[in-house]
Amino acid sequence: MTAVLEVNHLSKKYGSRAAVNDVSFTLEAGEVVGFLGPNGAGKTTTMRMIAGLISPTSGDVKLLGQAVPGKTLKNMGAMIEEPSFYPYLSGRDNLRYAAKLHGNIPEKRVEETLELTGMKARGSDRVAKYSQGMRQRLGLARALLSSPKLLMLDEPANGLDPEGIAELREVIRGFGEQGITVFVSSHILSEVEKFAPRVLIINRGTLLRDTSTHHLLAPTADSADASYHLETTDAAKALEVLRRESWIQNLETTQAGVRLRLPRAAAYRLAPLLVQNGVMFTQMQRDTSVQTDLESMYLEVIGDQGNAGGVK
Ligand code: ATP
Repeated sequence: MTAVLEVNHLSKKYGSRAAVNDVSFTLEAGEVVGFLGPNGAGKTTTMRMIAGLISPTSGDVKLLGQAVPGKTLKNMGAMIEEPSFYPYLSGRDNLRYAAKLHGNIPEKRVEETLELTGMKARGSDRVAKYSQGMRQRLGLARALLSSPKLLMLDEPANGLDPEGIAELREVIRGFGEQGITVFVSSHILSEVEKFAPRVLIINRGTLLRDTSTHHLLAPTADSADASYHLETTDAAKALEVLRRESWIQNLETTQAGVRLRLPRAAAYRLAPLLVQNGVMFTQMQRDTSVQTDLESMYLEVIGDQGNAGGVK
């Protein structure tokens, strides 16, 4: 099956400076993928090349198997940077106008996109009266007008309050379930890890990781590992016993006892194992203070830019 999007060795130079450097990846139908990186990492530049708004210095993009820019571009909906509208027109009229410019978009699609983005009730108000969050939603509605197969959103959570971000998350998840491929940029890991099963991490124009967030998205999945902290005055003995078990990993002593990692589904075996081997412990609990792999990876990736404040 043809991939929805193929990005091949994409680079963009501004003067001698590489904004994007040899970026390659593929997105399949229905995938929801986060594009993560600190400010200035190259996310917007990559997205603009994918949307055919600027041309790459080298490399190419294929949408549904055809070169961009080209006729398959009509299958892409994009919201790149802050969307702009005619302030004196209503949200609905802005969408109607965009639909007319695009051509072949039935009137009922305007209402559908207002509905999908939660903007129906305010659709008749002039855009000048909208909050930034509402303008973002209207931008999303406009990107959806053409019923795209690929939806590309650049920092869509900008300007949204926590409630708006939570709603956006649900909307984005829903798109993936409908088979729409969604590519969403953000500089905040906690924002994308909640809805994107896959994350691409970019910094200084270079794609550094292409990784699954499955273990973060499915905290109750049997296969997922978890960290536990065991409070015990007998850490040496606990270590001796636990070291023999192949299903227990990352053993280390702490001030109050021992920390370890094991498959969540095997957690029930821990207490009996300790008791049977005469290890006394006062408490055993999930250790949520341990950074997830992705978090530490992202911090490492962006750390040298002093930008860790973006990670929540
Ligand atoms: P942000 O989250 O701040 O939007 P970003 O990851 O989207 O960041 P880009 O906007 O793609 O990053 O910028 C990548 C680099 O390219 C930055 O160093 C930026 O200054 C530079 N850059 C982007 N557009 C231009 C341009 N038109 N001319 C010169 N340099 C540019």
